[in-house]
Amino acid sequence: MKKIAVLTSGGDTPVMNAAIFGVVRAAHNKGMQVMGVVRGYAGLIEGELTELLPEQVEYISDKGGTILKSARCLEMLTDEGRAKAVQTLKDFDIEGLIVIGGDGSFRGAQVLTNLGVPAIGIPGTIDNDIAFTDYTLGFFTAINTAAQEISKIRTTMLSHDRICVVEVMGRHCGDMTLYAGIASEADFILIPEVKFDLDDICREIEERFARGREVSIIAMAEGAGNAEEIADYIREKTGRDLKHVVLGYTQRGGEPTVFDRVLAMQMSARAIELMEQGIGGRVVGIHENKIVDEEINTALAMPLKFDYALYEQYCAMMNY
Ligand code: ADP
Repeated sequence: MKKIAVLTSGGDTPVMNAAIFGVVRAAHNKGMQVMGVVRGYAGLIEGELTELLPEQVEYISDKGGTILKSARCLEMLTDEGRAKAVQTLKDFDIEGLIVIGGDGSFRGAQVLTNLGVPAIGIPGTIDNDIAFTDYTLGFFTAINTAAQEISKIRTTMLSHDRICVVEVMGRHCGDMTLYAGIASEADFILIPEVKFDLDDICREIEERFARGREVSIIAMAEGAGNAEEIADYIREKTGRDLKHVVLGYTQRGGEPTVFDRVLAMQMSARAIELMEQGIGGRVVGIHENKIVDEEINTALAMPLKFDYALYEQYCAMMNY
């Protein structure tokens, strides 16, 4: 391939720029020209592309957000939209596409591959909700942020003998809450993968207070319920002073961790190796510390795996 394009799509992560950097450098080293598509599939449909030279992506790996901007694009779900996207790629003589995004974005990459433009996915999502890869780009940065925020919330909760239900992102996946909860010594971790009974938690809170053991943090995954409703319920049942905080978009921002940046470099290098061979319809990832790639359809069909052993180990340590 002589000319490829790269886009960032879906919910952004702080590591998308590091992946763009890797894609552009690796491609140029193999003699490929790289076009950057602005605003994901929306920009592809509208023909908003700009050339990315290595010097233009210098020193962006430590910056959150994405220089290409990201978007959700409903038009890409229609035949007309998809045809326009393919037409843009043809108009610009682009032979292959790298899509940095989550599972929805990968479906778009599969569609384009089926329509004759080989596309490769790089997993960019903080949620870690793509089963094929052990870690997605942005996960480690986001859990660092979440853990730091929870620690900050804890100090004020302890000063006032309050309990806080802290809602962590992750959609239907509890990984972010598990890791951030462990790192911040959360008293309870509520995740969609493990059934919980709020009445049991209320009883446990009372027993702990009776033993002089303060309870300050309940880390809750967004997929496990509504933080405000859970806080209201526990407040009513226990009479304790309860607050709730939804961490929200701060988890998508900030400076990417070193591990995330290194992973971005490795994944983008593999993506370009595949492009060089004219291969599309695959997603890259990391499994057991090795960079791997898999068919998009196979990767998307894999059921999410949750680290129950890690969860149980922490619960046992916290006597919960
Ligand atoms: P994420 O990639 O983070 O999972 P979304 O699920 O919102 O985010 O998907 C991002 C974009 O990918 C969508 O706005 C749409 O443009 C495109 N997309 C999602 N599903 C498909 C599909 N089945 N076919 C084509 N494009 C899709």
